Amino acid sequence: MRTLLCLLVLLLMGAETTLFTQAPLRDPNEFATQSAANEYGLKVLKPIIDKKSEDPSESPALRRRLELLQKAGAERKIWFHFSPTYYFEFRSTAAGLSRNKEGRVILTIFTPVFREYSQHTTKAEFEDYVSLVFAHEVIHWELGESGEFPHFGRSTPEQQMLGEAKAWAITVRSIVRQRLNQGRRQQRRAVYLSELLTMLKDDATNPIWLEQFRDPNWR
Ligand SMILES: [Zn+2]
Repeated sequence: MRTLLCLLVLLLMGAETTLFTQAPLRDPNEFATQSAANEYGLKVLKPIIDKKSEDPSESPALRRRLELLQKAGAERKIWFHFSPTYYFEFRSTAAGLSRNKEGRVILTIFTPVFREYSQHTTKAEFEDYVSLVFAHEVIHWELGESGEFPHFGRSTPEQQMLGEAKAWAITVRSIVRQRLNQGRRQQRRAVYLSELLTMLKDDATNPIWLEQFRDPNWR
């Protein structure tokens, strides 16, 4: 009997160890629950949007996009989803627009990307990053609303590439350059795109520019 008990205990311990080692390791930047991600969105990200939408040191182009986002959110034209995890396909994806079954436009914010970024930057750089990501998504939304590009999720990979190229051209010209002129440190990718577009004489239809957006990892 005693042997049996010991065996049982060993088996249980074994089961526990197996369960423990097989559980996927959560990235420390990911949130354990949806409500924790919501809290991060509302307490960390939203105040930055509110602050930047009224910041006179920012370009009118950025402020207008953030105001539009606040308005579209209040009018339920855009719904926010604060994802507690990274995007399953690309770890660098910070945000993305999609349409759900009910036809609602959903702006998904991959909160771990922001938490990760905040660990390597100053507060000012982080606020610049957050506001740029949100403004860029609003530019996508505007392009969809105006009918210039098919709405998110309904376009071919080629159209997505063209839409991205256009959205980044607007982002660079109207937001990134002003910040660089002010001597503010920007995300490496944004600086690279800004320099490239200058080199291409601001021609956003240049094949070299379009090629930058073929890889969906960089949208
Ligand atoms: Zn984009």
